[in-house]
Amino acid sequence: MNVAIFGGGIAGLSAAIHLLDKGYRVSLYEKRSVLGGKVSVWKDSDGDSIESGLHVVFGGYKELQSLLKHVGAEDAILWKDLALIYAEKDGKTTTFEKQKGLPSPYAELLGGLKTNVVNWRDKLSLIRGLLPLILFGDEDYFRSQDCITYSDWHARHGVTENALQRLWRPISLALNFIEPNVISARPMLTIFNYFGRNYEDARFGFFKANPNDSMIEPMRRYVLKKGGAIHCNARLKEFLLHDDGSVQAALLASGERIEADAYVSALPVHSFKKTIPKAWLKYDYFRNLFHFVGSPVANCQLWFDRKITDIDNLMFAHGTSFATFADVSIACADDYQAGQGTATGGSVLSLVLAPAHHLIDLPNDVIVEQVVKELKALFPKAREAKLLKSSLVKIPESVYKAVPGVDRFRPDQASPIRNFFLCGDYTYQKYLASMEGAALSGRAVAEKLSARLPKRNRIELLA
Ligand SMILES: Cc1cc2nc3c(=O)[nH]c(=O)nc-3n(C[C@H](O)[C@H](O)[C@H](O)COP(=O)(O)OP(=O)(O)OC[C@H]3O[C@@H](n4cnc5c(N)ncnc54)[C@H](O)[C@@H]3O)c2cc1C
Repeated sequence: MNVAIFGGGIAGLSAAIHLLDKGYRVSLYEKRSVLGGKVSVWKDSDGDSIESGLHVVFGGYKELQSLLKHVGAEDAILWKDLALIYAEKDGKTTTFEKQKGLPSPYAELLGGLKTNVVNWRDKLSLIRGLLPLILFGDEDYFRSQDCITYSDWHARHGVTENALQRLWRPISLALNFIEPNVISARPMLTIFNYFGRNYEDARFGFFKANPNDSMIEPMRRYVLKKGGAIHCNARLKEFLLHDDGSVQAALLASGERIEADAYVSALPVHSFKKTIPKAWLKYDYFRNLFHFVGSPVANCQLWFDRKITDIDNLMFAHGTSFATFADVSIACADDYQAGQGTATGGSVLSLVLAPAHHLIDLPNDVIVEQVVKELKALFPKAREAKLLKSSLVKIPESVYKAVPGVDRFRPDQASPIRNFFLCGDYTYQKYLASMEGAALSGRAVAEKLSARLPKRNRIELLA
């Protein structure tokens, strides 16, 4: 049984791995020259890694960790202390962290009381508003809150505006690249529940080298070792249909015709929408995908000639064009200080710029200048440092905007079309669009495909 998968991000690779494990023959087609999609990494002319975006793993990403282990990359992640570190002006930091050595919810309570990010009034309002959520919140409750924005939820629960702006706005921007008065309450509450319940689940991890070398490359090697085929520079153009609406073949932009027994789209939703055959739009399943709109985001990398910070963790900031960032020369030292490219022992900052709708058309040098100015205000050492080079990756449509009401339109991996399936971070699984969500969707599509189209066993084939 041949399966053709289109899209070589985490979802497509995860689907390929699980289908190969089940004994299917798999061919994967990716439109770009590199695999990885939103976690892809490529080299500049100096040999330095350019990332599509700074990527952080949560301890609770069980599926992703098990997939990494499965492909022999269990050591891919460097775990950091669990702390929300906010960079403030002139080299100061404020921190929100759990009190170590105490069980939940006491660890959060004491940690929250000790935080210097917000004042006492904010702390009391946070305890009143969030403690019931940490103690009693469950998946059903989070889903039920998809009808309002996080700002509305926050106000209704009596938590102060200052706590929203200082603590949670950077988190909302880091999660989905949109403001708290735009994002649905659901993903924010899910994250609080994480942070509030289990130390292991909430801690941050960085890829030891970069997402490609630490994760995508081991996945690629696994697919090839199991006999799968991977074709890059192979863009899906359209599906050709049988009279009953099922897929007869897929046509690539090169004109090549791909025939298989089953077809899986692992494209981002905005790309898949362009390939949906008109005949399928009679199904709500496909029409509902037009509710999804991509979030614009940009990732900026800056190479300095000296260290401007010594913080080995994710950092957040407010009042800056970047919401979250890290010095990857410290956090992912296997790649960014490995001695190649421009490595001088200086800082390499990777910064996620959000919201980014107003940045997409702005010239890159103007954006970089703004980011450097903001960094100088935060880190005194940046004022003396020389900027060696910069890169800017703009993604006009990245993950879908998790706005109120959209969650219910997330499609199941099994479509109404007999031989056609969907996976990708936007499809239905318990996480919002994320690496974990993409990995889960790949497992789910393999399970649903094998349930609907069981692989013929050897005896049947011989008969
Ligand atoms: C800046 C940034 C920072 C992020 N940070 C984090 C983080 O810290 N933690 C986290 O968990 N998540 C993070 N994410 C989200 C995460 O990257 C995504 O949710 C996840 O990688 C999506 O995987 P996917 O396989 O579903 O889709 P994608 O990665 O988008 O893969 C889809 C693939 O399909 C290919 N494709 C598109 N059209 C075609 C076509 N016509 N034919 C063939 N191939 C096609 C694309 O080139 C791509 O390779 C971040 C995202 C961004 C943009």
